[in-house]
Amino acid sequence: MTHVVVVGAGIAGAAAAYALRNYTVTVIDGAPDVGGKLRTVEFAGMPYDEGAEQFLARVPEAVDFARLLGFSTEVVSPRTSSAAVWSRGRLHALPGRTVLGVPSSVQSLLGVLRPSEVVRAVADLVAPGDVPESDVAVGAYLRRRVGDAVVDRIVDPLLGGVYAGRADDLSYFATMPMLRSARTPSVIRAARAVVGAGAGGPVFATLTGGLGQLVPAALSASGAEVLTGRTVRRIERMPRGFRVVHGPTTDERAIDADAMVVAVPAAPAARLLADLAPVAAAELGAIDYASVAIVSLAYPAGALSGSQWSGFLVPAVEGRTVKAATFSSCKWAHLGESDLELVRCSIGRVGEVAVLQRSDEELATLAAADLSALAGLPAPVESRLTRWGGGLPQYAVGHLDRVARIRTAVAVVPGLAVCGAAYDGVGIPACIRSGYAAAAQVATSIAR
Ligand SMILES: Cc1cc2nc3c(=O)[nH]c(=O)nc-3n(C[C@H](O)[C@H](O)[C@H](O)COP(=O)(O)OP(=O)(O)OC[C@H]3O[C@@H](n4cnc5c(N)ncnc54)[C@H](O)[C@@H]3O)c2cc1C
Repeated sequence: MTHVVVVGAGIAGAAAAYALRNYTVTVIDGAPDVGGKLRTVEFAGMPYDEGAEQFLARVPEAVDFARLLGFSTEVVSPRTSSAAVWSRGRLHALPGRTVLGVPSSVQSLLGVLRPSEVVRAVADLVAPGDVPESDVAVGAYLRRRVGDAVVDRIVDPLLGGVYAGRADDLSYFATMPMLRSARTPSVIRAARAVVGAGAGGPVFATLTGGLGQLVPAALSASGAEVLTGRTVRRIERMPRGFRVVHGPTTDERAIDADAMVVAVPAAPAARLLADLAPVAAAELGAIDYASVAIVSLAYPAGALSGSQWSGFLVPAVEGRTVKAATFSSCKWAHLGESDLELVRCSIGRVGEVAVLQRSDEELATLAAADLSALAGLPAPVESRLTRWGGGLPQYAVGHLDRVARIRTAVAVVPGLAVCGAAYDGVGIPACIRSGYAAAAQVATSIAR
């Protein structure tokens, strides 16, 4: 039987293993448990996601994957999606119908921005200009089109939420491909076209029992053998296939494979591909990551009552510790069943190293203080801190070209494929898509 080894049991590796279920598959992960950035724990008596908390439901991959794995009855959409942004001393409704914060109408900016800032954004509708032909930073392009306030107070906080990245560093082509394809220099008109063409229905969904269920279910359905707590240390090319060396030096073991899927973040992927595909390894080594911390807070019943928001974002220019907070008990009906009210705070943008050097207790205290100052919440009764060191890849200017170079270099090695958040999207659906694509590549190679 053809043997495929998948390195990395996050959602991308799990999707690849599931798609390869007609082969003999071994999945190896260095962590004690499978799941990677999908992890559900019990908090305040509820199944609570301390990694990713939701997936995009307007694209099919994650919803379909959940249904395939038997979670149809657990897929739920938020009961409220009206988010706020903290700006200049109070919470404002976040403009609706935006593309990652790029407004589809000028009217939606009224209230959250000052009149002069809204007037500045209007210039985008009439200012001449060219659609960028080569990649540019989101901030560089959008500041020119709609002004600093839209970038600093709306786009940057949204990018901070998705990538833990900054508008002035992230690639316009990689993070906003849909605006680029609208082929108009006006980003407001482009956003209007994208939003107008979009499917209806809820934007996000989750599983009532937690997203941490997805990877174990996929691996079980795949029939793969799963080895955890076994870091893959190197992959050697053999006359036919590969030799995968894993485990600590005191307990090193090797396993042979006809084909390989490397489904780990960029830094370990760079190390593992150093000999096999040195050009890919060098490119992977250049992808930066942002670290984040999630502070989960539980409040006495009633603390959130009356809140009209699902949560709020905090622009970096406001200088607070918390960059985003989700009022989990308001947003998700199933979490509203807890006796306590749950709030999930996110801390850390790329380059903000100092804040994450604080102790767990200090971070929890700072988060609770921000929630009190910004949303008037009382002292929490329970807290939990989760650190995600190197949690999110940064798609810098030129990322799409870099990924193309990586794929070209990997394709030269028969039977090798890569997938995961480092390449074509950090969200769960994009990672599933990349896992499927890697599986298809490996299957084609095997068939040859
Ligand atoms: C705090 C946080 C919140 C997020 N929220 C959302 C959200 O709400 N919605 C959303 O769509 N996305 C969200 N994301 C992004 C999304 O969760 C991730 O991009 C995605 O889960 C990454 O999946 P992956 O399979 O590519 O990698 P990972 O989940 O990182 O899995 C890689 C696996 O490889 C293993 N590994 C690494 N090196 C080795 C080695 N040498 N040998 C063996 N194993 C190795 C790791 O242990 C890990 O299990 C969030 C991310 C973070 C950090």
